Amino acid sequence: MSTEHSPYFNPAETISRDELLTLQNERLKKIVRYAAANNGVYRDLFAKAGVDVNDFNGIDDIQKLPIISKETFRENYPIGLCCRPQSDLREMHMSSGSTGTPVVMPYTQGDLLQWADCMARCYRMAGAYPSDPVQITPSFGLFNGGFGMYHGARLAELFVIPTGSGNTERQIRLARDFGTKFLTAVVSYSIRIIEVMERLNIKLPSLRAGIFGAESLTDNMAKTVGEAMGIEVFNIYGMTETGGVGTLGCDCADHSGIHVWEDQYYLEVVDPITKQPLPDGTVGELVVTSLTREALPVIRFKTGDLTRILTRERCACGRTHLKIDSISGRTDDMLIIKGVNFFPAQVEQALLEIPGVHPHYQIIIEDRHGVKDIRVNVEADENVTGFMVEKHLKERLGFSPKGDIFAPGALPRQEGKAVRVIHKTIDE
Ligand code: ADP
Ligand code: ZN
Repeated sequence: MSTEHSPYFNPAETISRDELLTLQNERLKKIVRYAAANNGVYRDLFAKAGVDVNDFNGIDDIQKLPIISKETFRENYPIGLCCRPQSDLREMHMSSGSTGTPVVMPYTQGDLLQWADCMARCYRMAGAYPSDPVQITPSFGLFNGGFGMYHGARLAELFVIPTGSGNTERQIRLARDFGTKFLTAVVSYSIRIIEVMERLNIKLPSLRAGIFGAESLTDNMAKTVGEAMGIEVFNIYGMTETGGVGTLGCDCADHSGIHVWEDQYYLEVVDPITKQPLPDGTVGELVVTSLTREALPVIRFKTGDLTRILTRERCACGRTHLKIDSISGRTDDMLIIKGVNFFPAQVEQALLEIPGVHPHYQIIIEDRHGVKDIRVNVEADENVTGFMVEKHLKERLGFSPKGDIFAPGALPRQEGKAVRVIHKTIDE
């Protein structure tokens, strides 16, 4: 590690909680007035909720504001929630559309800098210092991953290897030839890389850390990938609506939760149904307000992501920004089979506990005239049987899917986010 650089990219990462709260309160009042003054949709939403923005008093009043969702974005497609004229916009990104109509996010020059700053903080948190080689494997395009990691890496003065997605053999050769120290990827792509590294018999001794996100990163997946690559794994979090990858934060070297950049975002965790606030420690839906974004600030955006606030105490790493648990799933990901509710990430966590099981699997939901059944297809070594998988899942999840074993390499691989759940209607 270089000694001339601080372990924090931005001094804001360690300010006291009192300072943080004062800053949040001021910024919250400002952004609400700004949105009302510059956008008719926000103005109408606030008026309908009976909120006079001139009387709005910050954090204490936040629950008076209406909650917006992906639906609000869709109703106002493409950028009806934008607060700036087109002439101020410099870039746009669009969600991958995992859950329906894509969401568009426009950026001003200031927003691009804000994004880069959040992302640069994440890089530094993972131990990256100027001139360290970072390989960016998420795609460069409408998906925010590639460009976000690029903007941040430039600000953090890293050496960028902008491979983008695909061509895994070339990725690995370039990582070897240019001594990649930090590998950024969508979680499921990291396992693809491991597989091809094994096939090519190439080791990457320079690789120090993986910064993985865009999908659930279960503890067992982080462990599997970390051990296979011999690296430390960091879980990075962000979404199109908050301004892209890294805007919300990342876990630190203490690996005790994801620090969320609270000087930039105000978080609430609410009951997904009643929308009432939940106490710290209780799992609910994350609602985010962006405090500094200019083109399209989100105000009380319900993310669909389920997590809980773990702590607001200063972390062993010195940062004061609160920590949330890794995302356990999305509200719309929840599967209900024979009365048991569960998330795909729980299946993954349980599967990876079975020795000989590989991190490639699919969850097949079969619908026979309204009756749902579940099958799990998983790649595994020869000694693993379907019965072993069924028995373990029954123990861990409380229901008994059929387990089908596939030879390593037999299940389909995707670029970008993995399709883990497949719904099939069976007419017989
Ligand atoms: P889409 O919603 O279409 O997938 P995005 O590319 O904006 O589009 O993805 C953001 C979403 O990806 C988040 O709301 C969250 O569900 C998921 N996500 C991003 N990072 C993580 C992470 N580290 N852990 C779990 N889920 C994540
Ligand atoms: Zn920390």
